[in-house]
Parts: sequence; C-alpha cells; structure tokens
Amino acid sequence: MSNRVKYLILGAGPSGLTLAEQLKRNNENDFLVLEKETVPGGLCRSEWVDDGPLDIGGGHILDVRRPKVNELIFEYMPENEWNLFDRDSSIHFRDGYVGHPFESNIWQMDIEDQVEFLESIAEAGCIKNTPMPEKFVEWIHWKLGDKVANEYMIPYNQKMFGDNLDELGTYWLEKLPDVSFRDTLRSCLERKPYGKQPGHASFYYPKTAGYGEVFERIGKALGDKLILGTQVISMELMEGDLKKVKCSDDNEYLAEKVVTTIPWKSYELIGFDEKIVGSIENLKSTAVDIEYFSENMDTSAHWIYEPNPEVSYHRILVRHNFALGSKGHWTETRSERVALKKREGSYHYMNEYAYPLNTIGKPELMKRLLSYMKGLGIIGLGRWGEHNHYNSDVVMELAMNLAHRLINER
Ligand SMILES: Cc1cc2nc3c(=O)[nH]c(=O)nc-3n(C[C@H](O)[C@H](O)[C@H](O)COP(=O)(O)OP(=O)(O)OC[C@H]3O[C@@H](n4cnc5c(N)ncnc54)[C@H](O)[C@@H]3O)c2cc1C
Repeated sequence: MSNRVKYLILGAGPSGLTLAEQLKRNNENDFLVLEKETVPGGLCRSEWVDDGPLDIGGGHILDVRRPKVNELIFEYMPENEWNLFDRDSSIHFRDGYVGHPFESNIWQMDIEDQVEFLESIAEAGCIKNTPMPEKFVEWIHWKLGDKVANEYMIPYNQKMFGDNLDELGTYWLEKLPDVSFRDTLRSCLERKPYGKQPGHASFYYPKTAGYGEVFERIGKALGDKLILGTQVISMELMEGDLKKVKCSDDNEYLAEKVVTTIPWKSYELIGFDEKIVGSIENLKSTAVDIEYFSENMDTSAHWIYEPNPEVSYHRILVRHNFALGSKGHWTETRSERVALKKREGSYHYMNEYAYPLNTIGKPELMKRLLSYMKGLGIIGLGRWGEHNHYNSDVVMELAMNLAHRLINER
C-alpha cells in the first residue's frame, strides 16, 4: 500500500501531536502522523498503576510559564481538571535533606558545614576570575567550588548522564540554576533561599489522571490522521524531492515534507549524503528505567534528587504529594545502573530514549544535519528531531511555531 501526503509527521509525542493539531486547526488536512506505540504521548505517557497514575517516561509536570501552550492544553483538559502546586523538591544529602537548588539551601545545614561550603565556593574559579574551562567537570569545580562539585554535582550528573562527564560540553550549563556566591552567602545569613530558581517553580498536575491524559485526548481528536502501532524503519530520498517512509507493518508513505520527531538513530536513511548520515552515530542519549513502589514516604517533597553513588536511582517521584489521592512513589534510574538496585518494585518501564546528551560538538553536528535535511524538505522537531534537552511545554511551543510557518508557506 502507498499513501501520498503533503506532510508526514514521524512520532506522536507532544511535538508531533501539537504540530498535527495545529495543522488540522488551520484546515490543513493533508497530513498523517506515524507512531510506533499503541498510545500517543511519547515520553509523556501515563499508565494506571496501583490505583493511581504513573508517568512511564519519568516524572512529568506542566510548567506554568508558557501561556500559549497552557491555553492549548486547557482546551483539551480544562484548568479545573488540574491541581496547581508550588514546587517542593529536595536533595538527599548525607543523612538528611537539603532543598533544591543546593547552593540556595546550604543554610539548612549545620553551621560547621555551612562555613565549609561557603569557604569552598569562595575559592571557586569564577569568583577568582580564572578563565572559564571548556570541560564539564572542570567547569563544575570552576562554577561551584570543590565541595559542591565533589559532594553533589559531579556524583549526581554521573548518575544521570554517565561516568565520563567530560564527553559533555559546557554550552548548556547556563540552564543550571544560577545562584551566585553572594546569593548563597545571603541565604545563609537570612536563612532562606536566594538566587534564580529552577524551572517548574509552579506547576500543574492532573487531579484524577496522569500527565499523559492530555496527549491521549489530543491524539483522539486527530482521528484517522494518527496511525498508531506502526514503527518507522526507513526514509528514502526519491526523485522530485519526495520522501518514502517505510514502516514495520510494510506500509509505505510518500511525502512532500517530513517532520521528524523520532530519534535520528532509530531508522535507516537511504539515498542521503553518507557523511551526514554517518555523523548521526555521534548523537548520544541515555535510557531511563521507571520503577514503582507502593510505600508512601514521610516527606512533603514532590520529588527528591539522590546523588549517592551507592544508590542506583537518581530521582524519586513522591506520587502521593502531586497525584493527590494516590499512594506510593517511583524511581528514575539510568539503564546502566539498574543492576545496582537493592529492591524490586511492583512495576517498571524502560525508556530506550530518555535524555539526549549534550556532548561536545553536538550543536555543530545538529546544525549541519538540520540545515542539510531542511534543504530536502525534512524538518527535525522536538526533543529527538533537534536532539535537545527540551521539556514538553517547549516542544509544544516549537511545534506551534512550525505549524504557523508551514501554513504561511502554503
Ligand atoms: C525523566 C524525564 C522527566 C521529564 N520531566 C518533564 C517534566 O516534568 N515536564 C516536562 O514538560 N517535560 C519533561 N520531560 C521532557 C518531555 O518528556 C519531553 O519534552 C517531551 O516528551 C518531548 O516530546 P517529543 O514529542 O519531542 O518526544 P517524545 O515524547 O520522545 O516523542 C517521540 C515519539 O516518537 C515515537 N517514535 C520513536 N521512534 C519511532 C519510530 N521509529 N517510528 C514511529 N514512532 C517512533 C515515540 O514512541 C514517541 O511517541 C522529561 C523527560 C524525561 C526523560
């Protein structure tokens, strides 16, 4: 069977779904979305486990910061179906907990520790005006001082991204919470956090469902434009700049334009520049396992970061504190660390593609890849299409902007 469309969208996560929704809304119906799973939503999918929602791609909450995105989301799931929270997140540190971000909450430690951390931060390279290093580990020491680096940032990031942190670039580190030495000092003196706080300071979570619910509703509204349970296995460049996309169920699709939101490595590219295709091998990512435990936790935190290398997981999502009325918690563990786990949960799900890694050279690689593909009518969108560490609200906004560009080009 062969189907020809103007726009073929690969993947029905938040990016692909939003793009399709926006095309449809603007009376552009010459498109199809192909999705390998039987449920849309990508990393934002949820399942119902032990009488409550479980976000199988990890803890997923909706940031309040993008009104355009919220407006769209609330059309499918009205605001009164969501609870609004002020973020409460902490870091498991030694035998207790410190608020997140670490540098804003050193004041919660005892005085001796505060003095030691402050002394160490005061010695950091950025305070002493030494040149900014280009390697990840050196950058962390330079920015935060040896103590925060050794006791929290390095072990935590190794758990998240892998032991060789020097594979990572430093170009994305401005995304870290920006807390200056002055902010830390002031927070210790006044015993409250100072400094730029991280994202999700306020967030929404559904009252009676998981985060994935809204994406299932968007998917449903797409009707037969969304084809589920079909995995893209190859894309071939044909004459006249048409693209032929082949799927696991033997169906083939011809498209004038392809918008890909799926990992570049997850399918074969045929008839394209070999050097460009070869460079895709250098895109790295991690897989993350989600494991559910039915016990409640004695904390008000919505989630807890775990930097201790002896513990397999790097984060706990305290379900009963944000999915109100449910119980239990779940953990997030990078796949290579699953073997270290000491207890067995009652449910688990492995996400093969969870975090795109910000390796050295990635921005240049992606710039070349995306600009070459764009010239052939193939657009990379979202977390995997752009291989960027975007949250769902960000990819939705990008998809909305792309839809408007495509509509205006018609
Ligand atoms: C642990 C974790 C926690 C996160 N927490 C948050 C949060 O709290 N808030 C937030 O906003 N964002 C969060 N994110 C980010 C969020 O998951 C992403 O921004 C969002 O899912 C990106 O959407 P996407 O459509 O670009 O990609 P994805 O959601 O990954 O969707 C890609 C889709 O493509 C499909 N696909 C892949 N390969 C193929 C193929 N070969 N053929 C057909 N289909 C294919 C997949 O099944 C998937 O449905 C988190 C991510 C992780 C990993």
